[in-house]
Amino acid sequence: MSSDPVMINAFDPRRASELPKSEQILLDRRQRLLGPAYRLFYEHPLHIVRGEGVWLYDAEGAAYLDAYNNVPSVGHSHPRVVEAIARQASQLNTHTRYLHTGILDYSEMLLASFPGELSQVMYTCSGSEANDLAVRVARQFTGGTGFIVTRLAYHGVTDTIAAMSPSLGTQVTLGPHVRVVPAPRSASTPAKAAVNAEAAGTGDRQVGRDFAAGVEASLEQMRSLGIKLAGLIVDSIFSSDGVFADPPGFLQEAVAAVRRAGGVFIADEVQPGFGRTGDAMWGFQRHSVVPDIVTLGKPMGNGYPVAAMVSKPEVLAPFGRHCRYFNTFGGSPVAMAAARAVLEIIVEERLRERALETGQYLRRGLAALGGKFEVIGDVRGAGLFIGVELVTDRATGSPATRFVAALVNELRRRRVLISASGPGANVLKIRPPLAFGRAEADILLGELEASLAHLPA
Ligand code: PMP
Repeated sequence: MSSDPVMINAFDPRRASELPKSEQILLDRRQRLLGPAYRLFYEHPLHIVRGEGVWLYDAEGAAYLDAYNNVPSVGHSHPRVVEAIARQASQLNTHTRYLHTGILDYSEMLLASFPGELSQVMYTCSGSEANDLAVRVARQFTGGTGFIVTRLAYHGVTDTIAAMSPSLGTQVTLGPHVRVVPAPRSASTPAKAAVNAEAAGTGDRQVGRDFAAGVEASLEQMRSLGIKLAGLIVDSIFSSDGVFADPPGFLQEAVAAVRRAGGVFIADEVQPGFGRTGDAMWGFQRHSVVPDIVTLGKPMGNGYPVAAMVSKPEVLAPFGRHCRYFNTFGGSPVAMAAARAVLEIIVEERLRERALETGQYLRRGLAALGGKFEVIGDVRGAGLFIGVELVTDRATGSPATRFVAALVNELRRRRVLISASGPGANVLKIRPPLAFGRAEADILLGELEASLAHLPA
């Protein structure tokens, strides 16, 4: 189950009686045992029992193409990850208070994929914990408390981080020290999307200027309220804001403004990291900026809970002087074995390169569908992180929210799994395991075209 906040296609429990008896029994048990806060995907929830590569199998053995799950990024149940976990678990699984070479070997491998300035790493079990730690480190370094986040940001579940995650909705109160800015978005069109598919956008400096202007306005507000700045934190692919990748470089001006004001820049790589954007290992590299802190998670252990915070040593130093850090399961020998296997597979199976190629192919196919279906307002993204914005009117860009809900459910009926995000919950989120290739892209495009043709506009 994903922790993603925007749940446009959530199951409505009031419709449980329409489902087969065996599924109603499972739903009843779930409700009774897990209580009211969990959500299930789809009008007709899925009961998945097995995964292999880019395929998931339900209790009846039917295969579903997984074009959504970014956690099993090297493929569901990758035998090498399974073997690495099993081997280490059969030998030793302790914690970071004993010397162990596993954590050191992995840290060297991981840090080698970062710019040289980012040379220290600390381990957690989840992306939320990594962000929580990053906030503490940033506050200790700057002496400030204020944070700038994007309008529909999601950074996790701890009390501090939920208060910095406006996508959780109005029921979750943002902290008094949190300022919200519009996500950087270019006013692209299907025609432009086709161009993006060829060569990730160039020019168009306005996007970066607009984003920086929002950040400057927040800095000004903080000054007037007497809030001292700690930093700016963004998901570098702006996943829950609706997927924004272009033009490359658009983060630079905002990051410079934050640094001038004494703050740090935290890149949340929980979604785009580990090669997904195809052009680089980390999403921030697309924008040619070097963050002060980077947080990692989701695909890091292919489903084994392992996450991390990477930092510049000088940024981490004050925290280390004042605080002691221990995370019982974070960085355990088994976590490190899983993470190491994932990193090796990404390199050896050339998954980043594959994400680049398949992503371009897929975006081109999606842009071609935009030529046939008026409802497609934009195709964007990088590598295998793709957003397809659906609109009721291309001129106004008004969100086709209900249509998207129907489309995601129709695709599930056709056994293709995707989801949606964005302020109008109208951006199809296509984010498959990186093992996704052209053959799978063709299945997705075919079923999407059939669904678009089938559903009343
Ligand atoms: N940051 C981002 C951008 C995320 O998408 C998520 C999870 N959806 C998190 C942080 C939190 O990660 P976790 O669920 O592992 O705590």
